Amino acid sequence: MRRPILGGNWKMNKDLGQALAYASAFKEAVLGVDDADIVIFPPSVYIEKLSEAFKGSPVATGVQNLFWEEKGAFTGELSTSMVKSVGATYVLIGHSERRQYFSETNETVNKRLKAVLKAGLIPMLCVGERLEEREANETFSVIEKQLKEGLAGLSKDDAKKLTVAYEPVWAIGTGKTATPAIAQEVHGHIRGLLNSLFGKEIGESIRLAYGGSVTQENIDNLMAEKDIDGALVGGASLDPVSFERIVRFRRK
Ligand code: PEP
Repeated sequence: MRRPILGGNWKMNKDLGQALAYASAFKEAVLGVDDADIVIFPPSVYIEKLSEAFKGSPVATGVQNLFWEEKGAFTGELSTSMVKSVGATYVLIGHSERRQYFSETNETVNKRLKAVLKAGLIPMLCVGERLEEREANETFSVIEKQLKEGLAGLSKDDAKKLTVAYEPVWAIGTGKTATPAIAQEVHGHIRGLLNSLFGKEIGESIRLAYGGSVTQENIDNLMAEKDIDGALVGGASLDPVSFERIVRFRRK
Protein backbone atom coordinates (compact mmCIF):
# COMPACT_ATOMS: atom_id res chain seq x y z
CA MET A 1 0.00 0.00 0.00
CA ARG A 2 1.43 3.36 -1.01
CA ARG A 3 0.47 6.28 1.22
CA PRO A 4 -1.22 9.05 -0.76
CA ILE A 5 0.66 12.33 -1.15
CA LEU A 6 -1.00 15.64 -2.02
CA GLY A 7 1.21 18.61 -2.82
CA GLY A 8 0.12 22.21 -3.31
CA ASN A 9 2.49 24.18 -5.55
CA TRP A 10 1.78 27.85 -5.01
CA LYS A 11 4.35 28.90 -7.61
CA MET A 12 4.96 32.70 -7.42
CA ASN A 13 1.70 33.63 -5.71
CA LYS A 14 0.53 35.24 -2.44
CA ASP A 15 2.08 37.89 -0.21
CA LEU A 16 3.01 37.09 3.37
CA GLY A 17 -0.34 38.15 4.83
CA GLN A 18 -2.23 35.96 2.36
CA ALA A 19 0.11 33.04 3.02
CA LEU A 20 -0.43 33.25 6.78
CA ALA A 21 -4.21 33.62 6.45
CA TYR A 22 -4.24 30.51 4.24
CA ALA A 23 -2.10 28.61 6.77
CA SER A 24 -4.40 29.27 9.69
CA ALA A 25 -7.53 28.30 7.70
CA PHE A 26 -5.98 25.24 6.09
CA LYS A 27 -4.38 23.98 9.29
CA GLU A 28 -7.78 23.93 11.01
CA ALA A 29 -9.45 22.36 7.99
CA VAL A 30 -7.11 19.38 7.72
CA LEU A 31 -6.59 18.64 11.40
CA GLY A 32 -7.13 14.92 11.86
CA VAL A 33 -6.22 13.92 8.29
CA ASP A 34 -3.84 11.07 9.04
CA ASP A 35 -4.11 8.86 5.97
CA ALA A 36 -2.17 11.01 3.50
CA ASP A 37 0.93 13.19 3.35
CA ILE A 38 0.14 16.86 2.71
CA VAL A 39 2.79 19.30 1.51
CA ILE A 40 2.59 22.99 0.70
CA PHE A 41 5.26 24.39 -1.61
CA PRO A 42 5.07 28.17 -1.03
CA PRO A 43 7.57 30.74 -2.29
CA SER A 44 10.75 30.00 -0.27
CA VAL A 45 10.69 33.32 1.59
CA TYR A 46 7.63 32.12 3.54
CA ILE A 47 8.96 28.68 4.49
CA GLU A 48 10.04 29.60 8.00
CA LYS A 49 6.78 31.31 8.96
CA LEU A 50 4.60 28.66 7.33
CA SER A 51 6.54 25.78 8.90
CA GLU A 52 5.89 27.44 12.28
CA ALA A 53 2.23 28.02 11.42
CA PHE A 54 1.69 24.37 10.39
CA LYS A 55 3.32 22.92 13.53
CA GLY A 56 1.02 20.41 15.19
CA SER A 57 -0.85 19.79 11.92
CA PRO A 58 -0.41 17.14 9.22
CA VAL A 59 0.96 19.75 6.79
CA ALA A 60 4.65 19.76 5.81
CA THR A 61 6.39 22.44 3.77
CA GLY A 62 8.69 22.20 0.78
CA VAL A 63 10.56 24.44 -1.62
CA GLN A 64 9.93 24.74 -5.33
CA ASN A 65 13.62 24.65 -6.23
CA LEU A 66 17.12 24.86 -4.75
CA PHE A 67 20.76 24.78 -5.81
CA TRP A 68 23.02 21.74 -5.48
CA GLU A 69 26.10 23.47 -4.05
CA GLU A 70 26.32 23.79 -0.28
CA LYS A 71 27.49 27.42 -0.05
CA GLY A 72 29.57 30.04 -1.79
CA ALA A 73 29.45 32.62 -4.54
CA PHE A 74 26.12 31.67 -6.16
CA THR A 75 24.12 34.88 -6.06
CA GLY A 76 20.42 34.38 -5.67
CA GLU A 77 20.54 30.67 -4.84
CA LEU A 78 19.51 28.63 -1.78
CA SER A 79 21.18 25.46 -0.53
CA THR A 80 19.77 22.31 1.05
CA SER A 81 21.05 23.22 4.54
CA MET A 82 19.48 26.69 4.30
CA VAL A 83 16.02 25.41 3.43
CA LYS A 84 16.29 22.63 6.02
CA SER A 85 17.23 25.13 8.71
CA VAL A 86 13.96 27.02 8.20
CA GLY A 87 11.77 23.91 8.31
CA ALA A 88 11.36 22.62 4.75
CA THR A 89 11.24 18.86 4.38
CA TYR A 90 10.30 18.42 0.69
CA VAL A 91 11.79 19.76 -2.55
CA LEU A 92 10.23 19.96 -6.01
CA ILE A 93 12.78 19.14 -8.68
CA GLY A 94 12.56 19.70 -12.41
CA HIS A 95 9.12 21.30 -12.56
CA SER A 96 8.29 21.98 -16.21
CA GLU A 97 8.27 25.74 -15.57
CA ARG A 98 11.86 25.45 -14.32
CA ARG A 99 12.72 23.45 -17.43
CA GLN A 100 10.93 25.90 -19.73
CA TYR A 101 11.93 29.29 -18.28
CA PHE A 102 15.08 28.64 -16.23
CA SER A 103 17.13 26.22 -18.34
CA GLU A 104 16.64 23.19 -16.10
CA THR A 105 17.90 20.05 -17.85
CA ASN A 106 17.94 16.37 -16.96
CA GLU A 107 21.57 16.85 -15.95
CA THR A 108 20.84 19.70 -13.52
CA VAL A 109 17.82 17.76 -12.25
CA ASN A 110 20.18 14.90 -11.42
CA LYS A 111 22.57 17.23 -9.53
CA ARG A 112 19.73 18.73 -7.49
CA LEU A 113 18.28 15.32 -6.77
CA LYS A 114 21.58 13.99 -5.42
CA ALA A 115 22.09 17.08 -3.23
CA VAL A 116 18.55 16.79 -1.86
CA LEU A 117 18.94 13.09 -1.03
CA LYS A 118 22.33 13.67 0.58
CA ALA A 119 20.77 16.33 2.81
CA GLY A 120 17.94 14.03 3.92
CA LEU A 121 15.25 16.12 2.26
CA ILE A 122 12.43 14.41 0.32
CA PRO A 123 12.47 14.96 -3.44
CA MET A 124 9.45 15.14 -5.71
CA LEU A 125 10.80 14.77 -9.23
CA CYS A 126 8.61 16.21 -12.00
CA VAL A 127 8.53 14.72 -15.48
CA GLY A 128 6.16 15.20 -18.39
CA GLU A 129 5.87 15.67 -22.13
CA ARG A 130 4.98 18.79 -24.09
CA LEU A 131 1.96 18.87 -26.39
CA GLU A 132 4.01 18.52 -29.57
CA GLU A 133 5.81 15.53 -28.08
CA ARG A 134 2.51 13.83 -27.21
CA GLU A 135 1.19 14.55 -30.71
CA ALA A 136 4.35 13.06 -32.21
CA ASN A 137 3.86 9.89 -30.13
CA GLU A 138 6.97 10.63 -28.11
CA THR A 139 5.44 10.66 -24.64
CA PHE A 140 7.03 7.43 -23.43
CA SER A 141 10.45 8.14 -24.92
CA VAL A 142 10.55 11.68 -23.46
CA ILE A 143 9.64 10.41 -20.02
CA GLU A 144 12.06 7.53 -20.25
CA LYS A 145 14.89 9.97 -21.02
CA GLN A 146 13.86 12.34 -18.22
CA LEU A 147 13.82 9.47 -15.74
CA LYS A 148 16.96 7.65 -16.87
CA GLU A 149 19.05 10.83 -16.99
CA GLY A 150 17.41 12.45 -13.97
CA LEU A 151 17.86 9.35 -11.81
CA ALA A 152 21.35 8.40 -13.04
CA GLY A 153 23.61 7.13 -10.28
CA LEU A 154 20.91 6.83 -7.63
CA SER A 155 21.16 3.85 -5.29
CA LYS A 156 18.20 1.65 -4.42
CA ASP A 157 18.15 3.26 -0.98
CA ASP A 158 17.93 6.70 -2.59
CA ALA A 159 15.15 5.54 -4.88
CA LYS A 160 13.01 4.48 -1.92
CA LYS A 161 12.77 8.11 -0.81
CA LEU A 162 11.60 9.40 -4.16
CA THR A 163 8.19 10.58 -5.31
CA VAL A 164 7.74 11.08 -9.06
CA ALA A 165 5.17 13.59 -10.30
CA TYR A 166 3.90 13.00 -13.83
CA GLU A 167 2.90 16.41 -15.12
CA PRO A 168 2.05 16.57 -18.81
CA VAL A 169 3.04 20.10 -19.77
CA TRP A 170 -0.10 20.53 -21.91
CA ALA A 171 -2.24 19.97 -18.80
CA ILE A 172 -0.52 22.41 -16.45
CA GLY A 173 -2.54 25.54 -15.79
CA THR A 174 -4.61 24.97 -18.93
CA GLY A 175 -7.73 23.38 -17.47
CA LYS A 176 -7.05 20.36 -19.73
CA THR A 177 -6.62 17.52 -17.25
CA ALA A 178 -5.37 14.21 -18.58
CA THR A 179 -8.22 11.74 -18.29
CA PRO A 180 -7.68 9.18 -15.53
CA ALA A 181 -7.05 6.58 -18.25
CA ILE A 182 -4.39 8.69 -20.00
CA ALA A 183 -2.70 9.49 -16.69
CA GLN A 184 -2.81 5.83 -15.62
CA GLU A 185 -1.30 4.72 -18.93
CA VAL A 186 1.74 6.93 -18.36
CA HIS A 187 1.94 6.13 -14.64
CA GLY A 188 1.93 2.43 -15.53
CA HIS A 189 4.80 3.04 -17.92
CA ILE A 190 6.73 5.01 -15.28
CA ARG A 191 6.14 2.19 -12.80
CA GLY A 192 7.58 -0.30 -15.29
CA LEU A 193 10.66 1.87 -15.80
CA LEU A 194 11.22 2.25 -12.07
CA ASN A 195 10.85 -1.51 -11.64
CA SER A 196 13.49 -2.09 -14.28
CA LEU A 197 15.85 0.54 -12.83
CA PHE A 198 15.57 -0.37 -9.14
CA GLY A 199 13.91 -3.79 -8.95
CA LYS A 200 10.25 -4.60 -8.51
CA GLU A 201 10.10 -4.26 -4.73
CA ILE A 202 11.39 -0.68 -4.77
CA GLY A 203 9.69 0.27 -8.03
CA GLU A 204 6.33 -0.77 -6.61
CA SER A 205 6.92 1.25 -3.44
CA ILE A 206 7.68 4.59 -5.15
CA ARG A 207 4.76 7.02 -5.10
CA LEU A 208 3.60 8.47 -8.40
CA ALA A 209 1.64 11.72 -8.23
CA TYR A 210 -0.30 13.20 -11.15
CA GLY A 211 -0.21 16.95 -11.83
CA GLY A 212 -2.01 19.06 -14.41
CA SER A 213 -5.26 20.95 -13.75
CA VAL A 214 -6.24 18.77 -10.80
CA THR A 215 -9.40 20.09 -9.14
CA GLN A 216 -11.86 19.06 -6.47
CA GLU A 217 -14.06 17.77 -9.31
CA ASN A 218 -11.57 15.36 -10.87
CA ILE A 219 -9.40 14.26 -7.93
CA ASP A 220 -11.55 11.28 -6.87
CA ASN A 221 -11.49 9.63 -10.30
CA LEU A 222 -7.78 10.25 -10.75
CA MET A 223 -6.95 8.78 -7.35
CA ALA A 224 -9.02 5.68 -8.14
CA GLU A 225 -6.42 4.61 -10.73
CA LYS A 226 -4.05 1.86 -9.70
CA ASP A 227 -0.76 3.73 -10.16
CA ILE A 228 -1.91 7.23 -9.18
CA ASP A 229 -0.81 7.67 -5.59
CA GLY A 230 -1.20 11.39 -5.23
CA ALA A 231 -1.43 14.75 -6.91
CA LEU A 232 0.66 17.85 -7.39
CA VAL A 233 -1.76 20.74 -7.57
CA GLY A 234 -1.09 24.29 -8.76
CA GLY A 235 -4.09 26.58 -9.26
CA ALA A 236 -6.55 24.62 -7.14
CA SER A 237 -4.16 24.59 -4.18
CA LEU A 238 -4.28 28.39 -3.87
CA ASP A 239 -7.69 28.25 -2.20
CA PRO A 240 -7.65 26.43 1.16
CA VAL A 241 -11.23 25.20 0.74
CA SER A 242 -10.60 23.61 -2.64
CA PHE A 243 -7.27 22.13 -1.54
CA GLU A 244 -8.88 20.71 1.59
CA ARG A 245 -11.41 18.88 -0.62
CA ILE A 246 -8.56 17.54 -2.75
CA VAL A 247 -6.65 16.37 0.30
CA ARG A 248 -9.84 14.68 1.52
CA PHE A 249 -10.42 12.92 -1.80
CA ARG A 250 -13.01 10.13 -1.70
CA ARG A 251 -11.58 6.63 -1.78
CA LYS A 252 -13.33 4.39 -4.30
C1 PEP B 1 1.75 22.48 -11.16
O1 PEP B 1 2.11 23.60 -11.02
O2 PEP B 1 2.51 21.57 -10.84
C2 PEP B 1 0.40 22.23 -11.69
C3 PEP B 1 0.06 20.99 -11.91
O3 PEP B 1 -0.41 23.32 -11.92
P1 PEP B 1 -2.02 23.29 -12.22
O4 PEP B 1 -2.63 22.40 -11.16
O5 PEP B 1 -2.44 24.72 -12.07
O6 PEP B 1 -2.20 22.75 -13.57
